[in-house]
Amino acid sequence: MECVYCKGKLEKKTAPFTVERNDYQIHWNALPAYICGQCGEPLFEEKALMLIEKSVELIDAEKTKLAV
Ligand SMILES: [Zn+2]
Repeated sequence: MECVYCKGKLEKKTAPFTVERNDYQIHWNALPAYICGQCGEPLFEEKALMLIEKSVELIDAEKTKLAV
């Protein structure tokens, strides 16, 4: 695998990721990702992207219960 930005070599590591919404944010300190050794750009693994998507879905669904 190579970096989509600079064609550098990717290494399997972890990277932080933050989802920002108007009323909340979710921050992960370490998600599995391939990090470019050249430009440092992370390419998150499919399962990490799934986790992000599911988390946002879950919180959006749950927080509607808070509405008065
Ligand atoms: Zn790169």
